[in-house]
Amino acid sequence: MSTFDAAPTALIVHAHPEPGSFSTAQMTTAAQALRDAGYRVDVLDLYSEAWAPVLARDEFAPVEGHFKPQAEQRRAVKDGTLDAAVQAHLGRLLAADLLVLSFPLWWFSLPAILKGWVDRVFVMGGVFGGDYGLFGDAALAGKRAMLLFTTGGSSASFRPGGAFGSVDDFLFHIHRGMLEFVGYQVLDPVVTYGPTRMTDQERAAALETVRKSVTLAAADARTTVR
Ligand SMILES: Cc1cc2nc3c(=O)[nH]c(=O)nc-3n(C[C@H](O)[C@H](O)[C@H](O)COP(=O)(O)OP(=O)(O)OC[C@H]3O[C@@H](n4cnc5c(N)ncnc54)[C@H](O)[C@@H]3O)c2cc1C
Repeated sequence: MSTFDAAPTALIVHAHPEPGSFSTAQMTTAAQALRDAGYRVDVLDLYSEAWAPVLARDEFAPVEGHFKPQAEQRRAVKDGTLDAAVQAHLGRLLAADLLVLSFPLWWFSLPAILKGWVDRVFVMGGVFGGDYGLFGDAALAGKRAMLLFTTGGSSASFRPGGAFGSVDDFLFHIHRGMLEFVGYQVLDPVVTYGPTRMTDQERAAALETVRKSVTLAAADARTTVR
């Protein structure tokens, strides 16, 4: 185990369509907590920049015949022909020691704009596959990632046996299938359950809980895993 010599960088990828949302306030609180913990914070606000989430044939050099998206990603990395927006975001991803995905839970998962960011930016040949392997051999091994999200349901409904089931169960496809797959060590998620049903006072307290949780995660993430 070693620690960072220089200030570490956190990339927050935020996906909420309303700037006045609680989710956005939660993201701003987390960003400040990370700065206070010594991080350089890079915020990528997907709705603000009108990120195009659809991985499509026409973002690649002309493809003759059968279109295989991951084969085209590998070819584009090798030839230096990745779409400019994808290349820019990939650069910001690779530069970050800590990745934070910030979003409201939609259908037990990421909003489509954020899922589409993963589709297009977690590029085969750029973060896994090609010269890299998977999981511990992928490009982001040694780095940390964390989910920061809000829900509509109450915390009771997300307990094992609750109406929605255990939160850990449905986060598996994100934690294992996306983040660990490309090498990250996943930190505990920071969740605010049901902010729409809270009083102003409860929401202020929830933001303070977010600040404390992110401060703890930041200290944890400053230790590299190899
Ligand atoms: C397509 C879709 C699918 C969904 N699927 C699910 C699902 O599977 N499971 C589930 O549980 N939920 C689901 N939901 C509900 C969703 O997760 C919640 O509505 C959302 O997470 C609530 O967070 P928000 O930031 O959008 O709340 P908002 O409604 O934006 O905010 C709540 C309140 O906080 C206030 N606020 C904003 N900033 C601050 C601040 N700084 N201090 C204090 N208060 C502030 C706002 O003014 C507002 O009154 C779904 C919603 C959609 C649209």
